Amino acid sequence: MVWHGFTQMATYAGNCPVIVDRAEGHYLIDVEGRRYLDAISSLWVNTLGHRVAELDQAIIDQLGRVAHSTMLGNGNTVVIELAEALAPLVPVTDPHFLFAADGAAAVEQAVKLAFQYWVNRGTPRSTYLAFGQAYHGDTVGSLSVGAGGFGTDLFDPLRFPVLRAPGFTADPELAAACALIEAHKRELAAVIVEPLVQGAGGVQTAPARSFHRLGKACRDNDVLLIADEVATGFGRTGSLFASEQCDLWPDLLCLGKGITGGYLPMSATVATGQVFDAFLGAPERTFFHGHSYGGNALAAAVALRHLQLLDEWKVLDNVAARATQLADLLERRIVGDPAVTAIRQRGLMCGVELATPHADSRWGSRVAQACTRRGVLIRPLGEVVVLMPPLTVTDDEIRLIVDVLQEAIAEVSRP
Ligand SMILES: *Cc1c(COP(=O)(O)O)cnc(C)c1O
Repeated sequence: MVWHGFTQMATYAGNCPVIVDRAEGHYLIDVEGRRYLDAISSLWVNTLGHRVAELDQAIIDQLGRVAHSTMLGNGNTVVIELAEALAPLVPVTDPHFLFAADGAAAVEQAVKLAFQYWVNRGTPRSTYLAFGQAYHGDTVGSLSVGAGGFGTDLFDPLRFPVLRAPGFTADPELAAACALIEAHKRELAAVIVEPLVQGAGGVQTAPARSFHRLGKACRDNDVLLIADEVATGFGRTGSLFASEQCDLWPDLLCLGKGITGGYLPMSATVATGQVFDAFLGAPERTFFHGHSYGGNALAAAVALRHLQLLDEWKVLDNVAARATQLADLLERRIVGDPAVTAIRQRGLMCGVELATPHADSRWGSRVAQACTRRGVLIRPLGEVVVLMPPLTVTDDEIRLIVDVLQEAIAEVSRP
């Protein structure tokens, strides 16, 4: 039997789970033949929809060459081609790519790289600064820099301690974080931040200029900056990477989710030439870390084709148009609803926060279920309804999402 993550299995069957059998474009089709608009992009990974002929073909072509060969000590053509294609696009100076399979592993690599960077420089440091409401993944290292929540507080004894700055909502200028960097500059190995939008923390946002200031504080105090763009990368917030909007140039960049368009597990930690150079020399300067499937050739092939399609199809233009349309519709139809306290949006990353009357009314999951019953697949974050459609979502689909959301909120809040 399948055991589902973040899911109480005792009540799983009673919650009418959607069992996906196949997909067509932006729609998932369940075993009963019911169709659902994938408005969470299969938990934020999908970008161009499902069964994209060009992406399917890229995998088929790569199958004719090789599915996987290890990147530990040896190379692979398509992985090199992917790194070369990504290099001019990532907001990292002289980028070097360390591939893994999950976002959490990309963060884990970044945390360990930052640690060893200082060891290799002969001035060990082991403190990290992370933000309130941050989410960086579920391995023990990424959980440690994350802020907890979702029931994960029980793992606190396993977490290593970090310096915790306030969340974006408590301190939108990120001034407290900048002050902490200044005060702890000699202990801090790195600062880790989700640029522009904290995703799993409830789609929290802060102004772009705040991140630019944060980057400057890191540079001025000689502290490494890790940008976790696992959620925001590959067009989600309107630019290819959110760091571009923030004029942020991290030392380490974490990529995942949308990197393969939602097809295959792949992630990457991108390091500057300066970080990379600190690992050159004697054998003990080597980065002793690696994942069996890091740099999988099938994943690299689909990631490479996906990158070309983002450009060929002018996907960012669609993100801009649909994001504006979504904002307008939400403004006209949802803002002012007494059941809604806030709407936060950057590009096609949007959170609608509900004014749930008390903790056990569970409006978030009930609204999500009401949407799903109406054919729009939604998964909430607590009391925040997350709208995260594919980047190629159409005008009609945005209308459908807002229509269904409005009905679902009414059904749950005014029964
Ligand atoms: C989803 C996410 C992760 C973890 O990625 P996984 O592939 O689920 O391990 C890390 N950081 C951010 C910002 C994320 O949204």
